[in-house]
Amino acid sequence: MAAKISNVLHYINGEFVEGASGNYFENINPFTNEVINEVAGGLKEDIDAAVRAAKEAFDNGPWRTMSVQERMTYILRIADLIEKHAEEISYLESLDTGLPISQTKKQAARAAENFRFYAEMVKSRMVGEAYHVDGQFLNYTIYKPVGVAGLITPWNAPFMLETWKVAPALATGNTVVLKPAEWSPLTANKLAEIIHEAGLPKGVFNVVHGFGETAGASLVAHPDVRLISFTGETTTGSEIIKNSADTLKKTSMELGGKSPVIVFADADLEKALDAVVWGIFSFNGERCTANSRLFLEKSIYDSFVEKLKERVKNISIGDPMDPLTEVGPLIHRKHWETVMNYIEIAKQEGAEVYSADVPEELKKGNFVPPTLLLNCHNSMKVAQEEIFGPVMAVMSFETEEEVIRMANDVKYGLAAYVWTNDIKRGHRIAQSIESGMAWVNSQNVRDLRIPFGGTKYSGIGREGGHYSFDFYTEVQVIHVSIGDHPIPKFGKSKQPSAASAQHG
Ligand code: NAD
Repeated sequence: MAAKISNVLHYINGEFVEGASGNYFENINPFTNEVINEVAGGLKEDIDAAVRAAKEAFDNGPWRTMSVQERMTYILRIADLIEKHAEEISYLESLDTGLPISQTKKQAARAAENFRFYAEMVKSRMVGEAYHVDGQFLNYTIYKPVGVAGLITPWNAPFMLETWKVAPALATGNTVVLKPAEWSPLTANKLAEIIHEAGLPKGVFNVVHGFGETAGASLVAHPDVRLISFTGETTTGSEIIKNSADTLKKTSMELGGKSPVIVFADADLEKALDAVVWGIFSFNGERCTANSRLFLEKSIYDSFVEKLKERVKNISIGDPMDPLTEVGPLIHRKHWETVMNYIEIAKQEGAEVYSADVPEELKKGNFVPPTLLLNCHNSMKVAQEEIFGPVMAVMSFETEEEVIRMANDVKYGLAAYVWTNDIKRGHRIAQSIESGMAWVNSQNVRDLRIPFGGTKYSGIGREGGHYSFDFYTEVQVIHVSIGDHPIPKFGKSKQPSAASAQHG
């Protein structure tokens, strides 16, 4: 599998093509900081070509109008091909992102499920409403695809997040232009190869690689793109909303997080420990729903922290391709610098920093040691800002009211986790937290039928399950008269106006 990886091209109108400018940028391996290959750097001209192809495929191609059965045959074929190529997908993903291979294998499997799931949902759950109104009317709703969907994705779980968007967008009959993150282009290219192999009509699915300020911004500004589904940083999301205003696009925003995990003394502490450690250090800590703020009930603070330290010391840090690796290198040297800088800030803010050791031979990679920031205060920068690495701020609390106040005293609102064996308290706290999602006595597991998304600065809207239909479709209402309802008869016989009656 260590064969040379060929350069990445755009996929436009059913063909792999160079960019209009002929420019390429380097794609770097986070484990070695060596160049993996070169990637076509898309500009406005490439976005224009991709949108043109997608619009033509939407307006005049067979995709939107073919029978649901036929369209779902394509969608299921994509799922089969993802499974067939799963090993290569997880290899490319780990090479590109530094995510441990044991974790990217699960993500590849989940990606295939996304397509199967939407094939099923579109057949069985994309149903309208019908109202029989006073025996006079029939009102009913239908769902129609929106048009050209612009999908913009981040680098932290690229393939899975891309398929989360591509599967419902295509299954509901839209055509797509995907702009993947510039730091993780390999699996988006593989997805294009798979969709090509699945034989979708040309122009239905397109990928333009490149940077946010050029390729991404051009997609957002394009008048023929009807919606933007975005996952990424909060500040980027806010800019995209502003930039999409002139062309009145629908937008869906899945943004950053700084999610609390609250552990009470009465919880199953062994399980809570497993979940807390997994929740911050899986995906190298580059996880939007990471439990990056840990609140421990005061009576268990010391003992729980001791156990955390033991786990942190024992985490296997290493080559992302090693099936035993638990934490790999961060995506890029720039991001590594940002995260390392937060560890310095934590020291300046007075937190006690406890880190694992990174072996000397790994230092050429972007390794940040799994790190606990102990005795934090909620007002510290490191307890408020999204670090997006294997770094967790740890705090203590005494009462339920206090911990709810602290948990909510943050601008984000993506996820929350509560551990207690008092089931009433579990529900009470979960419902009091300002977050789009909360888990009680559970790590982050999600059924595909359930909505995903955040509140406050963590996002706008929900995707997943049938919630994706609201976003990827237009609902149209048809009003039909089935009776003989009265209609005002304007202009039927001319009445003298009040003024002319007076003069007469
Ligand atoms: P990012 O915002 O830097 O980039 C995301 C994508 O947006 C990339 O493809 C980038 O090229 C593009 N982009 C950047 N500027 C743009 C612009 N002006 N116009 C259009 N596109 C532009 O995010 P990232 O660093 O790739 O990802 C990490 C962030 O993503 C974290 O904040 C994380 O919490 C968030 N995230 C959120 C979720 C969620 O579901 N809520 C899931 C995963 C990641």
